[in-house]
Amino acid sequence: MSAPLIRPRATIDLDAIGRNYRLLTARAGGRMPAGIVKADGYGLGAVAVARRLVAEGCDRFFVARLDEGLSLRSALPPGAAAEILVLDGAQAGAERELIAGELTPVLNDLGQIERWRTAAADAGRSLPAALHVDTGMTRLGIPATEADRLSAEPSRLHGLAISVVMSHLASADVPGSTQPATQLERFRRIRARFPQGAASLANSAGVFLGSEYHLDLVRPGISLYGGAPLPGCGQNPMATVVTVETPVLQVQHVEAGTTVGYGATHETDRPTRLATIAAGYADGLLRAAGPQRGSGGACRSVAVAGSLAPVVGRVSMDLIVVDVGHLPPGAVEPGTAVELLGPNRPVDEVAASTGTIANELLTGLSLRYHRIYRSG
Ligand SMILES: *Cc1c(COP(=O)(O)O)cnc(C)c1O
Repeated sequence: MSAPLIRPRATIDLDAIGRNYRLLTARAGGRMPAGIVKADGYGLGAVAVARRLVAEGCDRFFVARLDEGLSLRSALPPGAAAEILVLDGAQAGAERELIAGELTPVLNDLGQIERWRTAAADAGRSLPAALHVDTGMTRLGIPATEADRLSAEPSRLHGLAISVVMSHLASADVPGSTQPATQLERFRRIRARFPQGAASLANSAGVFLGSEYHLDLVRPGISLYGGAPLPGCGQNPMATVVTVETPVLQVQHVEAGTTVGYGATHETDRPTRLATIAAGYADGLLRAAGPQRGSGGACRSVAVAGSLAPVVGRVSMDLIVVDVGHLPPGAVEPGTAVELLGPNRPVDEVAASTGTIANELLTGLSLRYHRIYRSG
């Protein structure tokens, strides 16, 4: 018997992140991928992840928000040559902080470009910038008409040192979609007019679509963290990064006809044993995805004592209940570790069983977990 588990914990395997980075590098034909560490490194800790990636040779990071960029910059070793790019871009009023943090805004429209060029003129030197052109995502990015104006009036980019020209794939993980090829073709045409810096198109799924999508720089996120680049398409080539375990708090023997949890949505159909576990929606388990009355059973399970056990009743803030009646008496006791995510509960399977994707599952992981970083 292993020692009883006291606190819920998320163990993050930095060596696995290193392996995933090297696999992605090999896949991208030896080009060092950028590290996508937005949303606190997909919930796993941007600083720890970025430091590890720097050790692997990574020298470019993408974050979403200004504040994510500032905190990453201050956590990287002073003088680290790493470029930190901010996907939100140069918003009005953010210029001074972007410059002070040595951040590269990913410019998303002519207004941002104008603003950043003015900031460069005011600073009396050139400033780093990336250009994000829209090729079909219709979210962030310079629209085609603005790209036309920009190439007709190249002086709009004077004073800017363009490090990356990029676009983002909308359907790289949709089997059989023709959208990636359409976007690649549009991007190539735009790139011909903006040949500065590194050309970049591929997210995790894009890396696995084929070498024509790799260009100069790939931008994998979820695959670094162990998520399948192409979920539902064969075996996941990425190494498992995060294992989430939490203790059993109480075990009860109950009769048939016992109701469980808020709203009494579950009723036992036989005498059984129920284990109450320290994990709830405040830890990132989706309440909306919990078992519903009449759903014919649980849609989520946990790994405990070498087998899977179904979650029964509603997910509450701090607790869930699992049915462990199929396990021998004594196999599950207070202090027994239950695996919510990890080698026995792959992140993509858990995500699918709760109606979401690995990205949302990981970014929803709570700070309440005790985080342990393992390496070496
Ligand atoms: C989040 C993001 C990525 C990484 O996407 P994954 O699917 O997690 O690999 C790449 N590029 C941009 C612009 C993004 O927003």
